[in-house]
Amino acid sequence: MDEYDYIVVGAGSAGCVLANRLTENSRHRVLLLEAGGSDRKLWIQMPIGYGMSFYNPRVNWMYRTEPEPALNNRQDYWPRGKVLGGSSSINAMVHIRGQAADFEDWRAAGNPGWGWQDVLPYFRKSETCSGDPAFHGKDGPFHVTDVSADCHKLCASYLQAAAEIGLPRTGDFNGAQQEGVGLYQIATKGGLRMSAARAHLWPARARANLRVETEALANRVIVEGKRAAGIEYMKDGAVKRARARREVILSAGAINSPQLLLLSGIGPGASLQPLGIEVLHDSPAVGRNLQDHLCIDHLYRARVPSLNQDLGTWWGRLRVGLRYLTGLRGPLAMSVNQGGGFIRTRPGLARPDQQLYFSPLSYTRAVPGKRALMRPDAFPGFLLSAQPCRPTSRGHLRLKSADPRIAPMIFPNPLATEQDITDLLEGSKFLRRLAAAPSLQAVIAEEMKPGPQIQTDDELLADVRARASSVFHPVSTCRMGQDARENVVDPTLKLHGMQGLRVIDASVFPTVTSGNTNAPTIMVAEKGADLVLRDAG
Ligand SMILES: Cc1cc2nc3c(=O)[nH]c(=O)nc-3n(C[C@H](O)[C@H](O)[C@H](O)COP(=O)(O)OP(=O)(O)OC[C@H]3O[C@@H](n4cnc5c(N)ncnc54)[C@H](O)[C@@H]3O)c2cc1C
Repeated sequence: MDEYDYIVVGAGSAGCVLANRLTENSRHRVLLLEAGGSDRKLWIQMPIGYGMSFYNPRVNWMYRTEPEPALNNRQDYWPRGKVLGGSSSINAMVHIRGQAADFEDWRAAGNPGWGWQDVLPYFRKSETCSGDPAFHGKDGPFHVTDVSADCHKLCASYLQAAAEIGLPRTGDFNGAQQEGVGLYQIATKGGLRMSAARAHLWPARARANLRVETEALANRVIVEGKRAAGIEYMKDGAVKRARARREVILSAGAINSPQLLLLSGIGPGASLQPLGIEVLHDSPAVGRNLQDHLCIDHLYRARVPSLNQDLGTWWGRLRVGLRYLTGLRGPLAMSVNQGGGFIRTRPGLARPDQQLYFSPLSYTRAVPGKRALMRPDAFPGFLLSAQPCRPTSRGHLRLKSADPRIAPMIFPNPLATEQDITDLLEGSKFLRRLAAAPSLQAVIAEEMKPGPQIQTDDELLADVRARASSVFHPVSTCRMGQDARENVVDPTLKLHGMQGLRVIDASVFPTVTSGNTNAPTIMVAEKGADLVLRDAG
């Protein structure tokens, strides 16, 4: 059996950071296992390729949730990256840290060392970004770009409309003032996607003390007594084993890290026995506390051309393609989400309760499948979307089978609380107020969805249940916290009751942050790497 100091499972947003930081010092030998393959693919590196990876089983786990009663029993589609870089190789690149108060909440929940002032240095360490140096790093591996100069003309109508209804403007959602509307910073450098793989793995891959195995599916943690001794994985049709002298670190993401624990006999005993899995460590919270962001889109037919004309016609594609080829700029170098916002939908709220997205294009989601594609609509259109920041509903996941190749069953359980229902309804109503502002009215020909026939709160709520969907931010399935019955890892990210085993990825978030989850996952991994190295002396 090969032996390493650390085995990291999953080369996603967190795993790539760990592989890099743990091998900076040549003392440690690290094995990084990734179920997917290479990220050297055009549609991953070119930002607009988002639409191509969205349904591509070669780079995407393409999960479906179980039928969700609150969403008319729909099975939501949950893409997750299955490739070097993980979900950071297929995500929409919007770069948001969350609110300072999110991390104060983490600390207050019994996690010393995770308050805002504790985590800010790790956010700064992780990135290179323009803006106030009190908030932004200037020489970190993960590059974040201000693409405002290239935003579509319709973004000006969005910003102007927001001003007309009295929303403040912010120039930096990750700076001193998150609240307000503005244009998103995105994770790119020189017109190419900035994934965790590009930031951390590409520079580290040549190191003699790092071994990266792709197309390697971890089956289970090898447990000896209460110690994680290594990993069993499948590669090229053969079962292999590797030993970890110091630690096994699970960074397989919020779906697969708990799945792997459950497959290893670490989880709620009662749910494992029926599958014939021997319970090696009873940890009731594995797979519980699942949180995610749910979003509602309003679709408008525009009076003026939108990005649909650039991306959906051959002459438009020629124009933007040439712009990209000659300068790595323009719509192909951007996220589909260009305008953003963090706003309070009603008076009396202590902090923004809603994230806004303005996309100067519109597309209709396909039915997920091998040949599905995300295509811009044939007419000029754009989307306004609202996503409540801090849902209170909790879901869970559990194994369907003891076979590691079979996806777990995901029960997101959205809209399970009155507050979550109110928040999403308020978000949807707020989009109508924003769209009614003169500058948006000037470019809107027609509200296509929900549509003018939907007027009352009951009708809007019915529309939410019929159409709302995930924005792909699952977290908390191996939650960090002090109580071993309620949480999976302690504040140093070690598994409660086990030795030599940590989980470091989005699954440890005590609660979902008030925004997109890539930047905070990278922060968790930067801090996690420090915790691991500190223990190694
Ligand atoms: C379509 C989409 C759009 C998104 N848009 C944004 C956005 O615009 N901004 C933002 O901030 N966030 C966004 N997110 C969320 C963000 O990308 C994730 O929160 C973040 O990448 C999670 O990082 P992670 O390390 O926890 O997991 P991941 O990055 O998903 O990494 C897990 C890795 O582990 C591997 N793995 C899993 N199981 C095994 C196994 N058994 N053996 C070996 N390897 C395994 C996976 O293949 C994957 O590479 C989006 C996500 C998606 C899917």
